Amino acid sequence: MMGIQKVMVIGAGQMGSGIAQVCAQAGYEVKLNDMKQEFFERGYGVISKNLTRDVEKGRKTEDEKAAILARITMSLDLQDASDVDIIIEAAVENMEVKQSIFQQLDKIAPAQAILATNTSSLPITEIAAVTNRPEQVIGMHFMNPVPVMKLVEIIRGLATSDEVYKAAEEMTVKLAKTPVEVNDFPGFISNRILLPMINEAIYALYEGVASKEAIDDVMKLGMNHPMGPLTLADFIGLDTCLSIMEILHEGLGDSKYRPCPLLRKYVAAGWLGKKSGRGFYVYE
Ligand code: NAD
Repeated sequence: MMGIQKVMVIGAGQMGSGIAQVCAQAGYEVKLNDMKQEFFERGYGVISKNLTRDVEKGRKTEDEKAAILARITMSLDLQDASDVDIIIEAAVENMEVKQSIFQQLDKIAPAQAILATNTSSLPITEIAAVTNRPEQVIGMHFMNPVPVMKLVEIIRGLATSDEVYKAAEEMTVKLAKTPVEVNDFPGFISNRILLPMINEAIYALYEGVASKEAIDDVMKLGMNHPMGPLTLADFIGLDTCLSIMEILHEGLGDSKYRPCPLLRKYVAAGWLGKKSGRGFYVYE
């Protein structure tokens, strides 16, 4: 466990590319894995663009940018995990996909390697259970956009060892982020509190308590939230919001987590928020 140096990130999407970027910025050698070269290239392109912006703003030099990019290499094969110290999985939010990846990694990765997942809603304990090293499986929940957001929610599965927790915490600090320790329950802390707030805002709209603009203004201007809850829901994606509410509802078994019928209706209509051009608001 001593000394994490080589990192593998699985999934070069929105989150995986951000995680690879901050790891490379902190000096780690990073293998960025995806299923196809074009997916890797898309993620790598985003990283390169972010770094170019940093150079333009005087936050980094050209040399620093080049050195960071040089630390990121392409991987199209999970076998590349055979010599890394930690793997941070950021593939799609699907239990079968994650369990299959973890089962394979368990066979490929060195015996002492840590297997981390960036899942925002799936139980760490259930992912760990398909491996023969559940004590070395942990949640590292980065926030979007990764290069900007300071928090990493570190989630201990039922079997996660103290040593592995410590290593994840130390790595997070090296990434210039703030670790927060959380136990494995539905929604962890972030989504357990955020999503019911969003769901309640949708209920308020559904019941005609106020207009969408009024609801967002109250939370922005009155509570100093940078974004109103309905706007935030549109950014997260209403399908994602619904699936997290369902996980809270099912996992905690309390009717206070029931998804608002209006949220269900929007998702059924294909109004998924910003990504589909329409959610609570309309996007160009
Ligand atoms: P995304 O769709 O942008 O990226 C997922 C990437 O994983 C894609 O490039 C896809 O090709 C790749 N992938 C899928 N299956 C794979 C496999 N078997 N092997 C290798 N690569 C594979 O998704 P995202 O928004 O980056 O989310 C990734 C994870 O991060 C999810 O678990 C999600 O819940 C979590 N997360 C997302 C956010 C967010 O705001 N988007 C925030 C925190 C956590």
